[in-house]
Amino acid sequence: MSIKAPRGTKDIFGEISEKFQEIIKMSEIFKQFNFEQIITPIFESTDLFIRGIGETTDIVEKEMYTFEDKGGRSITLRPEGTASVVRAYGEHKMYQEGSKKFFYFGPMFRYERPQAGRYREFYQIGAEVIGECSYLVDAEVIFMADKFVKKLKINNYSIELNTLGCKVCRAEYQVALKAYLTQFREHLCDDCKRRLETNPLRVLDCKVESCREYFNDVPTLEQYIDDECKVHFEGVKQIITTLGVVFHVNSKLVRGLDYYNRTVFEFVSQDLGAQGTILGGGRYNNLVGEICGGIDQPAIGFAAGMERMAMLMPKMEAKTRKIAICWQGEMGSICALKARLELIEAGYITEMSYESKSFKAQFKKANKDGVDFAVILGEDEVLRNIAKVKNFSSQQEVEVAMSNLVEYFKEA
Ligand SMILES: [Zn+2]
Ligand SMILES: [Zn+2]
Repeated sequence: MSIKAPRGTKDIFGEISEKFQEIIKMSEIFKQFNFEQIITPIFESTDLFIRGIGETTDIVEKEMYTFEDKGGRSITLRPEGTASVVRAYGEHKMYQEGSKKFFYFGPMFRYERPQAGRYREFYQIGAEVIGECSYLVDAEVIFMADKFVKKLKINNYSIELNTLGCKVCRAEYQVALKAYLTQFREHLCDDCKRRLETNPLRVLDCKVESCREYFNDVPTLEQYIDDECKVHFEGVKQIITTLGVVFHVNSKLVRGLDYYNRTVFEFVSQDLGAQGTILGGGRYNNLVGEICGGIDQPAIGFAAGMERMAMLMPKMEAKTRKIAICWQGEMGSICALKARLELIEAGYITEMSYESKSFKAQFKKANKDGVDFAVILGEDEVLRNIAKVKNFSSQQEVEVAMSNLVEYFKEA
């Protein structure tokens, strides 16, 4: 029996791989906002995620890839990026340098039932700002995320924004919410019933239609929010409006993780069905203290699903010209290799056959490869120190002196 990739994983190649490269290239925008790249381990101590993500979340309750290593340590494949970045920030005492901005990308792991667009290994790209509490930062992070997604030519999405208040005002709200939802307890799904006890706010996260019917008239945080949290939220809304970011407030947006407070946001696309969130994030002022023990620092960040972004990105247009070098005869092969290296040096993508084949076979392969031009080096051309250049879109052929080849493509 042949071996297949494990359930819930996939190989990334061809078009998707090119889109992934484009996503990483466009993260240049993060560098312009002075974020630096951080690469953290793919596995961490299990404790990090229990403390960081929260024991009552779906991730920690049932989705973590946890195992014991040979030294008897409990290890977990990272289910998200933020906890690791925060751990690194504390471990390397980066707080001594003031606030820090990071971005990262890489695979994350969650043991979920595989379904369309959902994998057990999936890629995220994200950014975090640690050590700043101003609403200016919240606004800038949302603005930057919006710019990033637009750079990938993804346009059909909306930005949903909410505030979760702080520990103080949210506590009051949770009591009211729990009281309200308890009236309908028996109509809610098992997940909702459980969350009603552990974390009532997360009930609002339920995607089951029959549960959602009961959420229409739930009390909102707005009735309980304290002045400081209110000023912060108004500030975020005002600044991003000024910056031209289109958004709407969704008072039921709570995000799946326990660590958020104040600002939360999601970029949602209608083109992805029920799994419509392409990017999500928020402020997490208590997480740094939770993970780094005693070092309290405010923070905010977001993460985006690379697979989902790739699904929404338009087909990649080749920007670099692709040239096939077709040859015949031994001298032809040497000339072809030299021409190939010169053209690579000049920035073109080139390909050539490594076997002696008919021109017809070489053109056929070139066509399949999506080549723009072929450089033809038969015995006659080699003797005359020229090449024939065939334009695959116009089918025209011209003779070009070998010494002029690179120059010719620069002008063509
Ligand atoms: Zn508050
Ligand atoms: Zn439910």
